[in-house]
Amino acid sequence: MERINLPFTGIPTFLRAPLVADPEQVGADVAVLGAPYDEGSPWRPGARFGPRAIREQSVRFAGFGPAQAQRGLYDVRLGRRRLADVRLVDAGDVDVVHGNPELTFANITRAVRALRRRGVLPVVLGGDHAVSSAVVASIGEPIHVVQLDAHLDYRPVAQGVRYGNGNPMRLIGEMPHVDRIFQVGIRSLRTSESDLQDALKRGNRIITRWEVDALGPEAIAAEVPADRPLYVTVDLDVLDLPLVPGCASAEPDGLSFGQLRDILQALAARHRVVGFDVVELNPMLDVPAGNTALVACQVILEFLGAIFDVTLKGDGGSDEA
Ligand code: MN
Ligand code: MN
Repeated sequence: MERINLPFTGIPTFLRAPLVADPEQVGADVAVLGAPYDEGSPWRPGARFGPRAIREQSVRFAGFGPAQAQRGLYDVRLGRRRLADVRLVDAGDVDVVHGNPELTFANITRAVRALRRRGVLPVVLGGDHAVSSAVVASIGEPIHVVQLDAHLDYRPVAQGVRYGNGNPMRLIGEMPHVDRIFQVGIRSLRTSESDLQDALKRGNRIITRWEVDALGPEAIAAEVPADRPLYVTVDLDVLDLPLVPGCASAEPDGLSFGQLRDILQALAARHRVVGFDVVELNPMLDVPAGNTALVACQVILEFLGAIFDVTLKGDGGSDEA
């Protein structure tokens, strides 16, 4: 008899996709890669358990996953299936060398570079936000970057801190292949004024949480020039605090899930996305149901759906709801 495959059975790879733990061996459209590093967290640690928690929740969507007869996900909002013909693998986790962020980051960069060389779209699961600089470092072509976050993460490298979760956008901003940076959803009352001035001085476009409301998703996506591909980094704290109890840096007055989904969808419709990450899930803080991990998983599925709507255009349909 065919297995029922209830979500609490089996070994949870992302969406029950095949595990190909060596990035050099991956042949697929998309690979999910864990970067379980949280030594960059100056507040509550635990984001190192993020990739596992996302995988565990993802299995709940896998009844509709690659191994099943009914492929992809039926999107009630859009009235059609998504991701049905996308070849997905789980590339496992980057090796984290505790106490040695340089080596850990080199491992992240090497793994993502290997995936990209093979034409695979990397989806990186944090880990705290520090990992994003290692991911962006691997992208060997000029790009624009969109960051969705309550915080600028634009701390200068000072007092020996380089691999903290407050540093990645500063490091990314210094990379020669990174052109424009859009920092979207910024709202923290703990924002450093000098960091903000530095970000503006670089030419970063800061779209505050309130400007997100005023502009709407299409106008935000339209601000990003279409002359280069796009890397997107999603810090879960861009969402409103009650949505993300399992995020150490959650703050009130954040975006709704629908706002984040619509921004990602608008970005995917207008731009070629070369990779993205979802960071700052901390399962040690999450509610027992794992709701924040579920939200992280749904962010990934919505964004992938939007990206491959464009790539696979022809068997999709209009996204206008
Ligand atoms: Mn943040
Ligand atoms: Mn962040």
